[in-house]
Amino acid sequence: MLNDERWLNKRLDKMKEAGLTRHLRKINNQSVFSSNDYLGLAKDTRLISAAKRTLDDWGVGSSGSRLTTGNCEWHEKLERRIAEFKQTEAALLFSSGYLANIGVLSSLPEKGDVLISDQLNHASIIDGCRLSKADTVIYKHVDLDNLEEKLKETASYKRRFIVTDGVFSMDGHIAPLDKIMALAKSYHACVIVGDAHGTGVLGENGRGTSEYFGVMPDVVIGTLSKAIGSEGGFVAGSKTLIDFLVNHARTFIFQTAIPPANCAASYTALGIIEQSKEKRQQLRSHVLQIKKELKEMGFSVKGADTPIIPVIVGNTQKTAIFAEKLQEKGIFAPAIRPPTVAIGESRIRLTVTTEHCTNEINYLLETFNLVGKELNMIK
Ligand SMILES: *Cc1c(COP(=O)(O)O)cnc(C)c1O
Repeated sequence: MLNDERWLNKRLDKMKEAGLTRHLRKINNQSVFSSNDYLGLAKDTRLISAAKRTLDDWGVGSSGSRLTTGNCEWHEKLERRIAEFKQTEAALLFSSGYLANIGVLSSLPEKGDVLISDQLNHASIIDGCRLSKADTVIYKHVDLDNLEEKLKETASYKRRFIVTDGVFSMDGHIAPLDKIMALAKSYHACVIVGDAHGTGVLGENGRGTSEYFGVMPDVVIGTLSKAIGSEGGFVAGSKTLIDFLVNHARTFIFQTAIPPANCAASYTALGIIEQSKEKRQQLRSHVLQIKKELKEMGFSVKGADTPIIPVIVGNTQKTAIFAEKLQEKGIFAPAIRPPTVAIGESRIRLTVTTEHCTNEINYLLETFNLVGKELNMIK
């Protein structure tokens, strides 16, 4: 098949013409404003030593799926800790947040059920809906009136599942979970929340979007690879839900368990996160400062007050040029283009972490001012 690759090159050329090809970049000593390691835990010495100790005791890989030879005390210890952290009865580990989303969405809703999904949900939720035997209906991004319409339209389905990201990865919006839960209650629907970016960041104790709104969705899905600083995914919910997933979620059953060392690092991280109120306040003040100053310069800045700060450029090529100019000046912040976002909504997506110092933030703002003027985006 691949001895004649002209067809592949043609497809790549089409993307090139539209300015949409993706490239791998090596991060060296630039100033990075694109990390999901919001609390700087990925390089925290406490996580590193926890992982090292566990590496010495348990080795590098887990050697099998959880249901065969891969299950060790660290997996179960971390699951109990995640349940405690998320304040649910139980939790289940997956190899990534992506696979956790797919595992839940492809197994829980059945034929005759319907998934009611926010328009801007993450790719892993979209893929999970595609794999589900249930139908999928899309509602307008965080639009509660439209969600209610969809709930009314789907009255004939057996079961209804509203599925939403907690914090939207490309827009930085927070899903209004309190109101979504209220709608779900009056229309007898379940709520599934993908809280990859909320966990560790939102709520008094960093428990995520549910804590931020003081609600408890039916299913909470998360990742260990963002604020938790390690690698892997999880689902938190009732004991019955977790038992069900152990028996039905194919991305759980047929996947090698995550390494015990990852579990140990994540376990340590959860304790730190609960104690990191000040760090979260510091993060929030970074976010508020950057957004305020960018807006004052005249940039169009989207999102709620989360560490995800999208600066809208609009035109795809111009966005790519903006990102290149930032890079030339030593700042890494990616251009986000279609199909990740809608046509005409290309953007530079900044993320802030507690590791950014005042000098770095000031340099970022100066550079945005400079490049924005160069590209006639601001005066
Ligand atoms: C990163 C992300 C995921 C996937 O998590 P991984 O652990 O990286 O696979 C799922 N949903 C959202 C919204 C994300 O941003």
